Amino acid sequence: MRTRPMQGLSTTAIHAGHPGPNADGAVVQPIYQASTFLDAGHANYHDVPYIRLNNTPNQRALATTLAALEGGEAALVSASGMAAISTTLLTVLQAGDHLLAQRRLYGGAHSLLAHELPRHGITVGWIDPDAPESWAAALRPNTRALYTESITNPLVRVADLPALASFARAHGLVSMIDNTVATPVHFRPIAHGFDLVVHSATKYLNGHNDLVAGAVIGTAALVEQVRRRQNHLGASLDPHACFLLQRGLKTLTLRMRQHSSSALAVAQFLAEHPRVERVHYPGLTGHPDHARAQALLRGGCSGLLCFEVAGGLRAAERVLRQVTLPAVAASLGGAESLITLPATTSHASLTAEERAEAGVTDNLLRMSVGLEDPQDLIADLSAALAEA
Ligand code: PLP
Repeated sequence: MRTRPMQGLSTTAIHAGHPGPNADGAVVQPIYQASTFLDAGHANYHDVPYIRLNNTPNQRALATTLAALEGGEAALVSASGMAAISTTLLTVLQAGDHLLAQRRLYGGAHSLLAHELPRHGITVGWIDPDAPESWAAALRPNTRALYTESITNPLVRVADLPALASFARAHGLVSMIDNTVATPVHFRPIAHGFDLVVHSATKYLNGHNDLVAGAVIGTAALVEQVRRRQNHLGASLDPHACFLLQRGLKTLTLRMRQHSSSALAVAQFLAEHPRVERVHYPGLTGHPDHARAQALLRGGCSGLLCFEVAGGLRAAERVLRQVTLPAVAASLGGAESLITLPATTSHASLTAEERAEAGVTDNLLRMSVGLEDPQDLIADLSAALAEA
């Protein structure tokens, strides 16, 4: 196959990893719905062509596309975002090791770090991303890795990410970042010094609210270690989901542009609304990380935002009952807008104090701004807030 160097991210999303020529001249790679393949002679167990061993055609094509999009040497797809995160952490850490993690993580990652890793003999120390002068004091002789998120979920905070990557490098730690919300369209962590990028590909990478998947991108050596661990832990992605994810990726740049510009329009509308006490969106000048987001994020701040409704929990619940376009449902990053009340859903298991510490107030609504016309979303929110 003739190849030319890839340049733009849209071209990369469509052509990188495209194996061609496909059977019968198919322009896109078909789904190889086969668990196993003819044995062509292999050097070791990990090369046996088998879906669980993460080396079949749809998995390989997707890995090539994802590596190119994030600017990494290699990539791996997994059965969910949590599978990507847990398998990667269990690869870079072992019993007796210590992990440093930024506070304010996605709830699932927070629970994994706080409750599961200790069961494997791994301890976790939490650092305040806004206080770099305090990071060194959190180091221990057994600290091996650092974990962060590029745009946090739910409060869309943006830490000094290059400083976190350099801190990790200076102290010999493997730096890991969840780039789910920003996506490589808005932020490419490897170019800023991170070793490993993880994704819930369920969200923007796929973009259609119709599958669950994860991804890990980084150096060839680290990704191969993660692949071998995943081969044993078994969290592989099936070929049909690979096909859908590959298809979703082709429109990633277009979708992110629209998610970001619509979210900014919705955030600006909400910021002016008398029934809204506070809006959390890094594209707004009032957000605590606005200046940093402007410096680090390219072409927008993604499609996730939160807002606090005047009138407390009851008023927030009334907004949920009144909206007609956003679905009241968990998750984010798809064409359909979604809205949730974290206090009674994702953060319901926390005490009121823990929720307050996480910034999750009772009247906080999280919205994943989808690909509907932004004026329709604004009209719908306007009508719902009038009834709240
Ligand atoms: N990372 C972030 C930022 C998320 O929002 C989520 C899910 O909401 C995950 C990881 C976990 O992804 P999954 O649900 O695909 O396991």
